Amino acid sequence: MPVNVLFAAKTERWTVYEAPLRAAFAQAGIEVHLAMDIPPAEVDYIIYAPNSDLQDFTPYTRAKAVLNLWAGVEAITGNKTLHIPLARMVDPGLTKGMVEWVTGHVLRYHLDMDTDVLRTDAKWEPREVPLAQERSVVMLGLGALGAAAARTLVQLGFNVTGWSRSPKEVAGVDCLHGPEGLKEALHRAEIAVLLLPDTPATTNTLNAETLALMPKGARIINPGRGPLIEDAALLDALDTGHIAHATLDVFREEPLPPENPYWAHPNVTVTPHIAAETRAGTASQVIAENVRRGEAGEPFINLVDRALGY
Ligand code: NAP
Repeated sequence: MPVNVLFAAKTERWTVYEAPLRAAFAQAGIEVHLAMDIPPAEVDYIIYAPNSDLQDFTPYTRAKAVLNLWAGVEAITGNKTLHIPLARMVDPGLTKGMVEWVTGHVLRYHLDMDTDVLRTDAKWEPREVPLAQERSVVMLGLGALGAAAARTLVQLGFNVTGWSRSPKEVAGVDCLHGPEGLKEALHRAEIAVLLLPDTPATTNTLNAETLALMPKGARIINPGRGPLIEDAALLDALDTGHIAHATLDVFREEPLPPENPYWAHPNVTVTPHIAAETRAGTASQVIAENVRRGEAGEPFINLVDRALGY
């Protein structure tokens, strides 16, 4: 009997995922009936994007797990109709993309690339560009993405401090945790990168009080989620120059509305939530592995702790 796997995401994603998923299931030796329309009571696994039409899991009486296509799960953890295991996406392709995006933006700040690109009327004033070893970068969040980005920054020579909820060890990274750890980390943050999930405990991690702990002229890169930053406090800190610049990929409201002050602020770079995307090829292998585990009675990987919200 094939395993019934429902693909519950926007139709345009089906065209991207169908072939890689079929290949991954075949490679894993799992016979599946994979489709976008399977009677709910016959579905064994749900491949899921939180923006799909499926919001009520009640009729999926025999389903064993929901396998999320996205790394962020804030749009599904509160779903009261979901009572089966929820796995989030930890995709090697997505991780590579995030590491490259974060590294690029850290280097842009570190090397002051915007300042050094001269126009014809500019003064020719060579300066000594600091080395990475003279720069302190703080990674808020040391999960799949934060730890990977931190490791690459360490390889480039940066002084990297990391911060997480629980104690962590990442080679070459000074790992701090808890509320006191946050204060210590922010004191050091010439460049801060936010790779925390959006949960009740992480809302407004950067606010007026915590922004004030950062050194004057610090820069902020947020590829995590919009609610991690209290927007009014950041705009104030940018206006006073306490924060020199912010690169924001994620926002409380997306697309960012035209009237939002971030658009017009000279010291803000806005990017359209493109830091890292799930890559169908590698993500399909992760999904097939979880279905294999479910069928073999083995524990699922990348399970979400719904009480913690990530
Ligand atoms: P993850 O593996 O779950 O890691 C989350 C990290 O945040 C962990 O280190 C965790 O601490 C820490 N954390 C959670 N709550 C905390 C708290 N209250 N205080 C301090 N630290 C806390 O997640 P991930 O895969 O790295 O992804 C991180 C986020 O990136 C996602 O949730 C998503 O929102 C965002 N993302 C954005 C894009 C984009 O394109 N912009 C793409 C993918 C993902 P512990 O280690 O102690 O658990």
